[in-house]
This record gives sequence, structure tokens and C-alpha cells, in this order.
Amino acid sequence: MPAQPDFRTAAHSAADLVADYLQGVPGSPVWQPMDPAARQALLDAPLPAEGRELTELLGVIGAEVMPAPMGNGHPRFFGWVNSAPAPAGVLATLAASAMNPSSAGGDHADVHLERAVVRWLAELVGFPHPPGGGLLTSGTSMATIVCLAAARGRAAARAGYDVRADGLAGLPPMIGYVSGETHSCVRKAAELLGLGSRQLRTVATDAEGRLDPAALAAAVAEDRAAGRLPFLVVASAGTVNTGAVDSFGPIADLCAEQDLWLHVDGAYGAFGVLDPQIAHRYAGLERADSLALDPHKWLGVPVDCGCALVRDAEQLRATFSLVPAYLRDEEAGGLGWFSEYGTEQTRPFRSLKVWATIAHRGRDGIAADIAHCTRLARLLGERVAADPELELLAPVETSIVAFRARPAGLDEQALDALNAALPLAVQRRGQAFLTGTVLSGREAVRACLLNATTTEADLTVLLDEVRAAAAELTTRQ
Ligand SMILES: *Cc1c(COP(=O)(O)O)cnc(C)c1O
Repeated sequence: MPAQPDFRTAAHSAADLVADYLQGVPGSPVWQPMDPAARQALLDAPLPAEGRELTELLGVIGAEVMPAPMGNGHPRFFGWVNSAPAPAGVLATLAASAMNPSSAGGDHADVHLERAVVRWLAELVGFPHPPGGGLLTSGTSMATIVCLAAARGRAAARAGYDVRADGLAGLPPMIGYVSGETHSCVRKAAELLGLGSRQLRTVATDAEGRLDPAALAAAVAEDRAAGRLPFLVVASAGTVNTGAVDSFGPIADLCAEQDLWLHVDGAYGAFGVLDPQIAHRYAGLERADSLALDPHKWLGVPVDCGCALVRDAEQLRATFSLVPAYLRDEEAGGLGWFSEYGTEQTRPFRSLKVWATIAHRGRDGIAADIAHCTRLARLLGERVAADPELELLAPVETSIVAFRARPAGLDEQALDALNAALPLAVQRRGQAFLTGTVLSGREAVRACLLNATTTEADLTVLLDEVRAAAAELTTRQ
């Protein structure tokens, strides 16, 4: 690698480029379709034979990449569950990549910092944290694989099988319980872990989209009677469609009684527990065996960063460690390497951006940001409910508002067509961004509030844009 005397100069330029970019986001369109020529130029970029100066590269980044963002940095981006980056996290990313360790294990700052921030995350959401009881992951999809692998191993061991050595051969079908609102990453994990998606039972939900404990108990009893091996319940601390939070108390009771592993998907919503107004919905969360959550969502830690937390650290180690038990005590602190607790060997330095993001706002600042989002979401829900041309489709439990346009004179089929087309029509106008979903068989749109710089005025723009886009679409029909 050539020496880079121009690094300092380029780094200063990079700081200006990034600061200008972030400053310009709120005044720019939220998102625009890419110019076809610009898109093609990126796709067709030829492999360069010769290198270029660092400052020249910054010019290309500023001219060809940064003008076409996803939109999630904008205060009027309400799509999916994608947040604006926390500025402290942006800065930390540069420092972390300058150090560029592998956070697999050893005695260097990143490893110890990861232990600390995993504990911070557990403390933020009120989950028990034994030493070693968690690690950072690429996201909740990976955290779910990690947690469900531990659940699988524990259940198999209790039934007298060794999944690590023998796979699932010989075991009765291992049954997991989910709801219709469970995120698809759970199914993906079940498929990858050899459990099979057919072994995931979809349990009924109540009118608010929460898993029904009585239906769950009945399903478990039925599977036991049929000789199957129920082992896992997945509950949600904030579903992706409506932000519904399951009733953890009764579910945890059943899991304790039936010896089932309770996994909670808190990717989007776990941090909602920091808002005193809605904290009661999360009662019993701390009783789960594992919790997956995403600092790269509501906390705004720059992607990627998920986190797997477990009640019993040994369950993770027993699932992933390839270090024989007799060697383990020689490791510093006795906890061993992170690579003994999850799937990754070489691991990125994720903890610095988590540390910076939390340290910048503090617990109280984060709680205030969360409460701001839930308050705006409730307000948006009220405005939707008060508008005869709109229909609120679910109670606002956290910070997601699910609704649809319902102009007078359209039948259900026409309403579905309208609402299916609505998200893109809103997005293309460039003033606000929301996404669609299907709720109880009906096309819907949803707005997810994760950005503490979003204002009430932004909600006004959002609803004006929804009405305008709906009007465009209905006149066209
Ligand atoms: C985002 C999300 C996931 C998946 O997490 P990734 O970080 O995208 O892998 C799972 N569950 C819920 C509720 C989510 O919002």
C-alpha cells in the first residue's frame, strides 16, 4: 500500500463533505428516483486499472453517491424501520475503522467496550445481564439465529440429544410458536437451523395484534399430545406492522410451566420501554430467555448493529464455543472470546458507535428522544382518526401508525388498489416517505417514527402529502 501523506488533508475534506451532507438533508427531497443515467453509471462502473488520489475519491462520493440517498436521514422519512444516523455514531465509525481490530476476542479496547455496551443495552431495556450474556451482531436477523440456536440446543439437550454432534436426527419435530405478526427473520432462522418453517405454529392474535396466551397454551397441549417437542415461543416487543407489544407476563408464565424458551423480538420496539407512558406494556420482558434488539433502529446507531441478549450466558457458549471447557478458565476474565458466543469469527468494531451514540445523549436523552417519537405517533394517530378520508387501522402502541386512505365512494377493491399504490405515489413527490403493508387482508400504509428531530409540522406535511397523493391516484382511476 502506498504511503498516504494526503490522508490528513483528505480527512478534513471528508469531515466537511459529511457535515455539509447532514446539514443539507432536511432541506432536500426525502427521496427521489435515481436519474437513469446516474444509476447506470454506478452499475457499469469499470474496474479501475489505476488508482486515484483520496481527495479525488471524495469528489466522486460527493457528486455521484451522496446525492442519491435512501432517505432515512430525513425528518420526514417514515418508511419501514430505518433511522437517521446518530451524529456521534457517524464520527465513531471513522475512528473504529482507523483502528480496525477484529473484535473476536483478546485484550484490546474494542473487546472490553463491547462487553460494556452490551451491558448498557441490557440496562437500557431492563433485561438481566449476566457477564457474557450477549453480543453485538449485524442485526436482529443474525441475533435471532444466535438466540434460536441456543434455544434449540437447550431443548434438545434436555430431551437427551446432542444437536451439535448429531444434528436433528432422531429428535421428534421441535415446535416453535409465533404469531401472524412475527417478523420473517424468525422463519428464516427456523429454516436455517434445520427446524423447518412447518414446525413454526402461527398462534392467533387478539384484535390489537398481540399473541393470544390461551390459544398458545392450547397449541402447546395439542403438540405435546401428538408426541411433538414444543420448545420455543417468539413474542414481539413491537411488531413491524403496527408496533404491537405482546403480553409478556402470561406468555412467560406458560413458558416457565411448559419448559419453553421465550425469545422476544425487540428489534424495533424494545427501546420503547424507556418511555414512562408506555413502559407498562413491556411488563415481563425481563423474564424472557433471550431478547434480540437493534441499536441500528430506534437508537440511530449507524448500520450495522444488532444485539443478542440471553438470560443464561452459558447457553450461548454451549451452543457456539469450540474451545474445550478445560481451556476456558485461562482466558482473561473467564468469559473467553465473542466468537464462542455467536456465528462470527472476525468481527467488526461495532461497539464504538454504540458507545458514542449512548454516551452522547445519555440515558435521559435517549428516553426523551423515544418519548418524543411515541408522542408524535399518538398525535399522528389522532389526526388520522379525526380525518374522514383516512382510517386508523390499529391502536398506536409504540411509534408506528398503521392507516389507509379511505376517500368516499370507493369499494373495498378500489380502496385496496388505491392504498397499494399510495406509498410509491407519496415517495415520488419527495416531501415525505412512508411504506405499505397488508393488515388483516387489507392494503395499508404505515408511518414509523424514529427520528427525534421530526416535528408536529412534519406530521402535517406527511398527511397533506398522503391526501394529495391519494387525490392524484383517484382522479387517475
Ligand atoms: C428490523 C426488524 C427485524 C430484522 O432485523 P434486522 O436488523 O433487519 O436484521 C426483525 N424484527 C423486527 C420487529 C424488525 O423491526
